[in-house]
Amino acid sequence: TSLFDSVPQAPRDPILGLNEQFNTDPRPHKVNLGVGVYYDAQGRMPLLPVVAQVEQDLADQSAARGYLPIDGIHNYNLGAQQLLLGSTSSPLTEQRAVTVQSLGGTGALKLGADFLQSLCPNATVAISNPSWENHRALFEKAGFTVVEYPYYDANTRGLDFEAMCSFLEQLPDQSIVVLHACCHNPTGIDPTAEQWQVLAELLVAKQHIPFMDIAYQGFGTGLAEDAAAVRLLAEQGIPMLVSSSFSKSFALYGERVGALTVITTDAAQSPRVLSQLKRLARTNYSNPPTHGAKIVSTVFGQPERFQQWTQELQHMRERIQSMRQQLVVKLKEHGVVQNMDFILQQKGMFSYSGLSQEQVHTLRDEDAIYILDTGRICVAALNAHNIDTVAAAIARVLR
Ligand code: PLP
Repeated sequence: TSLFDSVPQAPRDPILGLNEQFNTDPRPHKVNLGVGVYYDAQGRMPLLPVVAQVEQDLADQSAARGYLPIDGIHNYNLGAQQLLLGSTSSPLTEQRAVTVQSLGGTGALKLGADFLQSLCPNATVAISNPSWENHRALFEKAGFTVVEYPYYDANTRGLDFEAMCSFLEQLPDQSIVVLHACCHNPTGIDPTAEQWQVLAELLVAKQHIPFMDIAYQGFGTGLAEDAAAVRLLAEQGIPMLVSSSFSKSFALYGERVGALTVITTDAAQSPRVLSQLKRLARTNYSNPPTHGAKIVSTVFGQPERFQQWTQELQHMRERIQSMRQQLVVKLKEHGVVQNMDFILQQKGMFSYSGLSQEQVHTLRDEDAIYILDTGRICVAALNAHNIDTVAAAIARVLR
């Protein structure tokens, strides 16, 4: 027998499985709303003009491709911090923010999880119910017990804030609480500013450790607005971690552009924390990749490019918002009598549509419209060519 004879087949990633099924579907009018990426008005994944221009500049300079430092490009990390915290927040002015470049937001979550595992291996990790499908597996792989706090309320199609708070109250002190900083994936439902304030007080009182995941900064209300919850918690003087992803906001998915930021409670801790994060990176992948981070740090470093990027990001955000509005209007036109205005309140790329698994399957079988079994729709995959077909089909299954 060989070592690998007993290797079991790992379960398929549900989203990637759906994409494979979509790709082999021969029906020409098929629509994929199961994805987690932004498509433009023509249904294509964009190359942002600002990215194309910076890439051209970098190509013209044709520099050698040496190893980056273990913690990545210094100006990239500083830019990521400022985008997250603003330039006047106390963690920045007091040297209490430590940032390392990471392999996407996922890489930041894993680096942070491994770091926490070395400090508090028996802490419980609490994620939202539902959450991004990789959260549970990632923290379990890092060695933690993962529980789910109540979040989505199917009856109100909103946040079950009371249940969420009482669950977090009952968790053991010093638990790790994973929070979507904005544009919750998959529901699109975020706490209000007042609710974040209550959460901040609760986290402080319970000495919980917030691990904020911000993968859609700029897709909700705006770059600064979407970071408001991070900035609020960062001012509480508690230990905290933040995973940033630029995969979506720069449409650089495959370049693995992310950052892990650790907020310490005393500047004296910061160099020691940084040294441990570097050690984890070194023993894991040695150092991060150059190309994507060079693009992002160039944009951060040049005011004109930065301005251009914020406009291109705003354009993506506004296109999604206009798709939300049109979807609601068209559902009404096609005879939906239920109130679908919740679609307008949700933030970011996704909408939890409230469609049942059975309705989702009907849409897939009869209309070649692909939606996740949970009913999550990627609003960013809607466009003028497909929205009418989609609205008509959804209206039919809702009848
Ligand atoms: N966190 C959330 C909530 C996400 O939705 C995603 C991507 O879909 C990620 C993290 C991972 O981002 P990245 O592709 O940068 O690893």
